[in-house]
Amino acid sequence: MSKGTTYIPFYDFSPSLNAGYLKQILPLLVSHNVAANPINYAIWYDYVAGGNPALTKAVNLLLEEHKSFDCDNSVELYRSHICNASLESFEHINKQLHKAIEQATSAINDTYNKAEETNDSFQKKSVILENSTISDGLKIIFQEIIQETKSLAMTSQAMQAKLTEANHEMEQLRTELAEVRQIATTDGLTGLLNRRAFDMTLVEIIDQSQPDTACLTMLDIDHFKRVNDTYGHTVGDNVIKYVASLMRKHAEDHHHVARYGGEELAIIMPNTSQEKAIQISENIRNAMEASRLQRKNDNQSLGTITLSIGVARLQVGDNPESFIVRADNALYKAKQSGRNRVIHS
Ligand code: GH3
Ligand code: MG
Ligand code: MG
Repeated sequence: MSKGTTYIPFYDFSPSLNAGYLKQILPLLVSHNVAANPINYAIWYDYVAGGNPALTKAVNLLLEEHKSFDCDNSVELYRSHICNASLESFEHINKQLHKAIEQATSAINDTYNKAEETNDSFQKKSVILENSTISDGLKIIFQEIIQETKSLAMTSQAMQAKLTEANHEMEQLRTELAEVRQIATTDGLTGLLNRRAFDMTLVEIIDQSQPDTACLTMLDIDHFKRVNDTYGHTVGDNVIKYVASLMRKHAEDHHHVARYGGEELAIIMPNTSQEKAIQISENIRNAMEASRLQRKNDNQSLGTITLSIGVARLQVGDNPESFIVRADNALYKAKQSGRNRVIHS
């Protein structure tokens, strides 16, 4: 990105209102054993203020599931529901401004063209006037009208230039936002879509797809803890990257490959039959089983590392949760029945 762009969430600055929030936030932090750092305060501030329904839902979900507000969960909440929420509203404002500028430019273009036309026609008429017998007084009035029309044309031209410049700046801002969005939706380790992008894409694909025309594949590396314990976390990271590259290679171009979390990866497959989804999953599983991975520094073999994969197809009445649960159940069955296999729901 060319220069640093900061997205600041919007907060109310009224001391009395905020004192009220403070009184509610502190007991919540204490009762849920949450560290009172700025990130957590921002999360619980939005929770208490109630203006961020997606965040409220996400916090309630963590509370229901008795999850802790540890570093990972809190940073994810902050990134998804506070940073990106303001990013989205900023992007919305940018689009609206862009539209307004385009409309103003077009109105000014019309004025300019009209002024030019009128000016031309007055010019022609002034030649006729010069040669006509009308009084000098009238001639002066006509000349003044011609002058004013000319100056209107010039003013329109100057405004047009300013608006073109403003539009250009908007374009730049839009490019920067696209870059920020790209960073906000990409998983840093694998370059796949991150969890947030996975969630958003899944909602979209479910909305756009007829039942039976889309599939969801969830994948988990078998006995991955052993890989970490035996070879270290960095080797573990490289194995995750390798699995990601296999998924990208075997998935189709219109599929969405994502890191669901940790060493669990997923593919959202629109316009894909269950047979096709299973075939792609088998290809990934086979390719992994056949891989002979070695540690970079000493070429030590990592042995065979395998994958368990669950496949679900979209059904009538599915929402993201039910779709994920079915794919996850299939994955669980793959684990239970011996690992290194593809099971469909
Ligand atoms: P299973 O076959 O049942 O899946 O066994 P498993 O050992 O793979 O168990 P599980 O899937 O529960 O283990 C996940 C492990 O993955 C635990 C965690 O330490 C590790 N892990 C999660 N994210 C990362 C990561 O980004 N890098 C590395 N190296 N390890 C990770
Ligand atoms: Mg796992
Ligand atoms: Mg695992």
